[in-house]
Amino acid sequence: MSEQEFKPVFSAYEGNLAGTLPEKNEGTINFYGLTQEDLKNFLKGLGKEQFRAQQIFKWVYDRRITDFDQMSNISKTFRDELKGLIDFNLPPVLSHLKSIDGTQKFLFDMGDGNSVEAVLIPSNDRLTLCISSEVGCNMACRFCFTGKQKLKRRLKASEIIGQFMQVHDRLSEGQRISNIVFMGMGEPLDNSDAVFKSVDILNDDFGISISRRKITVSTSGLVPEMWKVAAHRVRLAVSLNGSNDEIRSQVMPINKRFPLKDLLQACMDYAKETNDKVTFEYVLLKGVTDGLDQAKELYNLTRKIPCKINIIPFNEHPNSGFERPDDAQVEKFQNELIRLGAHVLLRRTMGRDIFAACGQLTSEFVNKPQKMDISNSKIGSIYTKNDMKKSQTQVPSNSTNSLV
Ligand code: SAH
Ligand code: SF4
Repeated sequence: MSEQEFKPVFSAYEGNLAGTLPEKNEGTINFYGLTQEDLKNFLKGLGKEQFRAQQIFKWVYDRRITDFDQMSNISKTFRDELKGLIDFNLPPVLSHLKSIDGTQKFLFDMGDGNSVEAVLIPSNDRLTLCISSEVGCNMACRFCFTGKQKLKRRLKASEIIGQFMQVHDRLSEGQRISNIVFMGMGEPLDNSDAVFKSVDILNDDFGISISRRKITVSTSGLVPEMWKVAAHRVRLAVSLNGSNDEIRSQVMPINKRFPLKDLLQACMDYAKETNDKVTFEYVLLKGVTDGLDQAKELYNLTRKIPCKINIIPFNEHPNSGFERPDDAQVEKFQNELIRLGAHVLLRRTMGRDIFAACGQLTSEFVNKPQKMDISNSKIGSIYTKNDMKKSQTQVPSNSTNSLV
């Protein structure tokens, strides 16, 4: 499907697909911000053969060689030339914490005092990396810790891929990141050029080679940008978090600009265009979004759209003004949706003890505990105090891995 074919569905959109201009740092270009196409164009400009782009991609992503001197199928003079033009800078890891449940949280230095987090989440059949797209977020959702921090800046593609590479380089032998979710800090569709450029880099067969079906972009509902998710053939998750306009506008101000009617139409268009289901995320806030009448309203709102509903009990953070419903209410809400016939999943809360759960990420550390004592909560109580001590340690940065 071309951009033009899909674009008319979202008539409000006036932009383009991800730009192809390479990022430039002081004098050098960051390799991790280049799609293969970008690198080909760059090499063409130097009068070089374009197949060199694939060779260099394989050295860097497959063999993790970033020293041009070791790229033995490239001539010495060309290697010397490239050294002055391309750098392989990655955002430094400021901290690396491991949860009692195996979840790992990484904090990256993005310069100028800015930092973002990424979370690695293991489960039976997959290893999912949740990455950030912005420092802070302008959407100001009232229940979200990141939303309390205004947008400081949007990340570059090289900084998004940089999060991936840093985590990848610290995996244990035989581990491989299988899924990517843009559910970290920021609104990915508020930074869509860099996000979709990084999608193209993640998907490249000569590079990281993650299938588009294993990449999910989660949005709070920036309707005019949503066609791009289908155009790039990645999965769409939508943070619904309210079963009618009144409640949704209360907890997600973006709903005042793009109300449910427009949002759900965009979801329907996505499903038609891709033959894929939309994932609706629905945060359960005690006394605000967790009523059984709201479960019914939610079902009616989404029943015509091919979808599944992911219910997420609210994760606490200081001074949020919201509470997590108790387990019994969560179960009732879930059962009501099941009874009505919805495809519903309850998201298991991961990494809560290291403050890495949904909506707990931020780059501002004032008022924010690095680790949370959950030993008295229901989730924490299945672990002993000793387990907690063992797991909440800084993990040393170690081994390097191949991506394939
Ligand atoms: N900005 C994007 C992606 C990042 S937020 C978006 O809003 O979709 C990722 C998910 O975390 C969203 O579904 C959001 O609703 C959810 N979330 C935010 N704060 C939360 C909290 N405190 N507890 C549980 N989920 C939360
Ligand atoms: Fe931003 Fe998503 Fe948090 Fe809303 S839920 S403030 S869009 S990160």
